[in-house]
Amino acid sequence: MADVVVAGAGFVGLSFALAAKDRGLDVEVFERRGRPTAPESLAANVIAVNRKSKEFLDHCGVFGRLRTPFCTPYQTMSVFDGNGAGSISFSSQEAGLPELGHIVDQNALRAALADAADDLGLPVHWGTAVDVTGYGAELVVAADGSHSETREKLGLKKFDYQYEHQATVCVAQFEKSHEATAWQWFHESGPVALLPLGEPDKVAVIWSSTLDLTSEPDEEFQSRLAVSTERQLGDVLSIGPRFSFPLMQQHVFRYVSDGVALLGDAAHTIHPLAGQGANLGFADARALAGVLGDARLEGRRLGDIQLLKRYEQSRRRENHLAGLAMESFYRLFGSKQPAIGLVRSLGLRFVHENTALKRLAISVAAGGV
Ligand SMILES: Cc1cc2nc3c(=O)[nH]c(=O)nc-3n(C[C@H](O)[C@H](O)[C@H](O)COP(=O)(O)OP(=O)(O)OC[C@H]3O[C@@H](n4cnc5c(N)ncnc54)[C@H](O)[C@@H]3O)c2cc1C
Repeated sequence: MADVVVAGAGFVGLSFALAAKDRGLDVEVFERRGRPTAPESLAANVIAVNRKSKEFLDHCGVFGRLRTPFCTPYQTMSVFDGNGAGSISFSSQEAGLPELGHIVDQNALRAALADAADDLGLPVHWGTAVDVTGYGAELVVAADGSHSETREKLGLKKFDYQYEHQATVCVAQFEKSHEATAWQWFHESGPVALLPLGEPDKVAVIWSSTLDLTSEPDEEFQSRLAVSTERQLGDVLSIGPRFSFPLMQQHVFRYVSDGVALLGDAAHTIHPLAGQGANLGFADARALAGVLGDARLEGRRLGDIQLLKRYEQSRRRENHLAGLAMESFYRLFGSKQPAIGLVRSLGLRFVHENTALKRLAISVAAGGV
């Protein structure tokens, strides 16, 4: 049995295991699903990977394996208040960066992580759901997602609630090019984002809404999408299959107990409106691998609660603030009150025209703060 056993080879569990192995730890991973395979065509299941996460994935030997059209850099973010007149746009050029981030196909990223694990000789047991709590390893790492069985089994308490929103995702082809821009409109019924894919006229639509957008006929959905995106990219020419996900917010009170650490969505799940969930998880993975690497050098037991608390302290605040920020955006942009609508539009315009605030916004989007 390895010193560290990980439940879940999602983005966070597997990137943690790669980073920990790189720090000289003996790690073993168990994953309920089968080994991922690289995609053959564009899909809507993508995530926005910020610059800080890219750097971490580079260090793990993963990012360089991603190829076009499954990894697309974006240079601009444009956000519109769909209920008012406010908008904000920032570009990598303004910040002196080559890009703000990358839109990455989730299956391509999973496959790249799996290949990196093979090359490093990291054992991953695909298609094997386990109860890692009974393994007797020095440290058990739960990276088994928002419905973490490990967390529940260990009785680690959390607060949680479901949003009225559900996210509907699909690939859409528009008349005009996406211009390497991540677009977002906030409407009372919820935000809609268009993320640039590897073909200039194709985007991934991520539409969080109180409305049921999956059962609507294709033509109605296409015309609703064109109107909701103010025809900035023209009309919608075609769409792919639509999928929907329920959305929730949750955060555990404690990330660690003796011999156990929670990572990623197992510890915190947020609304996807700013595309930060996996990015926060990568930062958890990097932090825990760093703490454990140092512990090995200090000759300490990996499951030592005092040691694990260092990891919790380094991550809890940022994750909590991100959850609060998503909640504030959700409420601010979902409000029907005219006074709040005015503040919202003026606020966006104020940030747009204020260079210092814009730099700060760019830095947050890139994962720098
Ligand atoms: C619509 C939508 C859009 C999003 N967009 C973005 C974005 O643009 N950018 C971003 O950063 N984030 C985004 N997110 C959030 C992001 O998808 C999650 O934060 C991220 O997937 C969490 O990764 P994870 O590895 O912690 O969990 P998961 O991806 O859920 O992985 C957990 C893994 O554990 C495995 N598992 C579960 N139980 C067991 C068991 N008992 N034994 C073994 N294995 C087990 C599962 O099979 C799974 O592979 C989005 C989320 C949604 C819903």
